[in-house]
Amino acid sequence: MRDPIDLKEFHWLLSIVQSIDVGVVVLDREHRVQVWNTFMENRSGVQPRDAYNQCFFSLFPEVDRQWFSHKVDSVATLGTPAFTIWEQRPYLVRFKNYQPITGQVDFMYQNTTLLPLRSTDSEIRQICLVIYDVTDVATNRHQLQAANAQLQKLSSTDCLTGLYNRGHWEECLQLAHARNQRYGNATSLVMFDIDHFKRVNDTYGHPAGDAVIRQVARVVREQIRDSDVAGRYGGEEFGVVLTDTDKAGALIFAERLRKAVERLSVSHEGQDIRFTISLGVADLSQPSSSHAELIAWADHALYLSKHGGRNRVTVHEPAVAAG
Ligand code: GH3
Ligand code: MG
Ligand code: MG
Repeated sequence: MRDPIDLKEFHWLLSIVQSIDVGVVVLDREHRVQVWNTFMENRSGVQPRDAYNQCFFSLFPEVDRQWFSHKVDSVATLGTPAFTIWEQRPYLVRFKNYQPITGQVDFMYQNTTLLPLRSTDSEIRQICLVIYDVTDVATNRHQLQAANAQLQKLSSTDCLTGLYNRGHWEECLQLAHARNQRYGNATSLVMFDIDHFKRVNDTYGHPAGDAVIRQVARVVREQIRDSDVAGRYGGEEFGVVLTDTDKAGALIFAERLRKAVERLSVSHEGQDIRFTISLGVADLSQPSSSHAELIAWADHALYLSKHGGRNRVTVHEPAVAAG
């Protein structure tokens, strides 16, 4: 067996504890501070002699007393370490964050280990807290999450209108279709296309056409509910999935949208541009094989609106079986 630690080694260990870049605190079973290293002194501004024998909770009133006491008790009783990580609690004690690069958060994220300290008689009368500064890790993770969310948004939205792009919108429709097949909730689709849009481009120019598309998207956003899903299906063709709505409800929505666009006047470089839309409505009250079939039905109804004279809504009616 190894000799017990001698005084010289003990002295070394003490300087190591003092100089390492983690917080070291030893508490007795009444949560009074017995050891307070330089890290703790620097970050808290409390000198070791002032911290000594002070109750941990009076030094750090922000610590959840019940939770922390329970944690300390279980470490002492079981004789096994415990941990708290920043994902669960951002910090144990609130220290200011001084890291220059990660200056955007004003506190230090921390991971903390609680170690049982066994005395020579095997009793655990002290607990050691080791506090790690993990602000870098936490802020990097947050930045990555924010970048991913931004990327997700960019890859699912259409940049001209801010509505969902075709790919993402179709995924949503597919989901609505699957939900309908499983639960049977009413689900409708409204497809619409701007009438004589080529004329808008030809008369006022492409940027004016873009402005028109943007304004149509704005009107759509104003008219839909939070549960509805609007997307730009093609150049000047749009789709709106209406959940818990049958085609009678969808027809009311489509008419409202048609009238709102009819009233709209888009001013572009001193010109007032008026236009209309043609719409097609279909729902899932009849058996369907896929979401694509619902699109085909709404598209066919839209085609009938175009051929019926435009600026109108047509509801898809299932073909009546000959018999
Ligand atoms: P209809 O009433 O039959 O729909 O006639 P239309 O002229 O609107 O015909 P169509 O729907 O086929 O027209 C699509 C046109 O939309 C063709 C294309 O030049 C134009 N377009 C498509 N995407 C954009 C866009 O992002 N910006 C602009 N300015 N024009 C676009
Ligand atoms: Mg068109
Ligand atoms: Mg078109």
